[in-house]
Amino acid sequence: MQDRYGRKFTKLRLNLLDACNMRCLYCMPENQTFSNLENSLSVDEIKSITQSLSLSGIEEIRITGGEPLLHPKFKQIVNELSKLSLKKLGLTTNAILLDKYIPFLKESNITHINISLDSLKEASFKFITKRDCFHKVLDNILLAKANGFIVKINMVMMKNLNFEEIEDFLKFSSDNDIEVRFLEMMKVGHGIPHFDRHFVSADDAIKKIKKGWNLKKMQMPKDSTSFNYMAGKENMKANIGFIASETKPFCSDCSRLRLTNKGVLRPCMMVNEGVSVNNKSDEDLKLTLQELIYKKPNYRIEQNPLTMNEIGG
Ligand code: SAM
Ligand code: SF4
Repeated sequence: MQDRYGRKFTKLRLNLLDACNMRCLYCMPENQTFSNLENSLSVDEIKSITQSLSLSGIEEIRITGGEPLLHPKFKQIVNELSKLSLKKLGLTTNAILLDKYIPFLKESNITHINISLDSLKEASFKFITKRDCFHKVLDNILLAKANGFIVKINMVMMKNLNFEEIEDFLKFSSDNDIEVRFLEMMKVGHGIPHFDRHFVSADDAIKKIKKGWNLKKMQMPKDSTSFNYMAGKENMKANIGFIASETKPFCSDCSRLRLTNKGVLRPCMMVNEGVSVNNKSDEDLKLTLQELIYKKPNYRIEQNPLTMNEIGG
């Protein structure tokens, strides 16, 4: 699956549901309503679509949401995805429920777990997520690491909220041997009204880090969303990355497609167009994919009013 710009589409973000048990301020308000799971793809439909997509070149699937661990059939879905011949199966979660799933996940093909953690301070974590579960999340991050998963932390940088904690996150990375990725807040959904007040660029963060740490650039795959550094200070070594979707978009090398829980395949996070791929034969799906990837821009579209939990972050 290759488009007219030479991009190969090998990665799929699979949005299991839009519901969540947190209310991160840039993602959704307290009174957010969610779609009914009865109208979502069934386990069999997910199985069939992902099987066809893997035949068409998808090699990596990352399960996301909303909060994917809230899906009542999460285990059945993961069991089906584990049967596919993928190079990588990953999960993006807020980790509130992760401890309950660790024994199951160890038996599955999930190897990579990305976890959102926007603050290392209890009060600030609560302010950002609107939930009182800082210690649970922190414990579950360490539990996942101790159980052998490749854990990455996603931290959305925000001026006047958590930007002052950047160095604490580098120490956290060094102490726990966990990669921390600093995300630029995106002009997506509920992030838009917070953008001017809280946006921090990757360059601003790097400037701040360089005052106290040595940065060594790491080699990354061409389609990586992040650019990474090994940061050193005294006897500390932090593995950090930046996802600079606003100031250094990676659209021209993007290898990702997105499948919503309604069975709509979307070419891009910023394009609100997609095609329903449910109940398509492998042949029909191949033709649909050709049309779909034609609609994938190779440049960054400025903003998208659709919320991140609907798109699947
Ligand atoms: N609930 C899971 C979680 O939080 O990890 C998975 C879904 S969440 C939508 C995926 C990622 O999107 C999270 O790391 C979150 O911080 C990020 N995100 C959501 N809204 C964002 C925004 N406006 N700008 C940047 N990142 C955002
Ligand atoms: Fe939930 Fe993830 Fe959105 Fe936070 S970023 S509200 S955890 S879906």
